[in-house]
Amino acid sequence: MSERLGVFGGTFDPPHVGHLIAAADVRHELGLDRILMVVANEPWQKLGSRDLTPASDRLAMVRAAVAGVDGLEASAIEIERGGTSYTADTLADLAAARPGVQLYLILGADAAAGFTTWERYEDVVAQARLVVVDRPGAPVTLAEGVPWQRIAAPRLEISSTDLRRRVGADAPIDFLVPAGVVTYITEHGLYRVGR
Ligand code: ATP
Ligand code: MG
Repeated sequence: MSERLGVFGGTFDPPHVGHLIAAADVRHELGLDRILMVVANEPWQKLGSRDLTPASDRLAMVRAAVAGVDGLEASAIEIERGGTSYTADTLADLAAARPGVQLYLILGADAAAGFTTWERYEDVVAQARLVVVDRPGAPVTLAEGVPWQRIAAPRLEISSTDLRRRVGADAPIDFLVPAGVVTYITEHGLYRVGR
């Protein structure tokens, strides 16, 4: 049987339990063999808006987040390719490396809402099945003709933006991110004000 592979892309600055619960639920609901948490090298939508944490740190945090979790893996494919991260290229690379693979692209509802602004989104549709995970405050409106399926996951009001703010304000992030991610952030002094 061909492999059923989930692709969950993000900036993951930092990764949090909202991402992980969504991924675990989608994997269970769709019976996926694995889900790759694909760390964006340079997310084109976020360029210029703020200082991104280096990709190597974001990758290390995703690795720490999924350590010991069955079926979830960190992927450096976009970092290794370098440059701006486009999902259309990532899916093509994954498919080329694994003939016959079935790709499932997992999107939060806010990401899904902007999907048709993505670079070569028609290529994305042609290469993967779209799976939209419900997220609070972001009703899904995809363009007509874009086939997708919805998976309802617990609605956790957690965002990386709020986590960065918390660290900067010396507020706790325990239980919002896995313990290994807390340790990494602390040891590397990420998100401190004036960094
Ligand atoms: P930021 O606040 O910096 O935008 P974020 O928390 O939205 O960070 P991203 O790395 O931008 O995280 O998101 C990666 C993917 O995870 C996107 O598809 C997004 O919709 C989804 N996502 C983000 N937060 C959640 C959440 N709490 N529950 C489910 N999916 C989420
Ligand atoms: Mg986001």
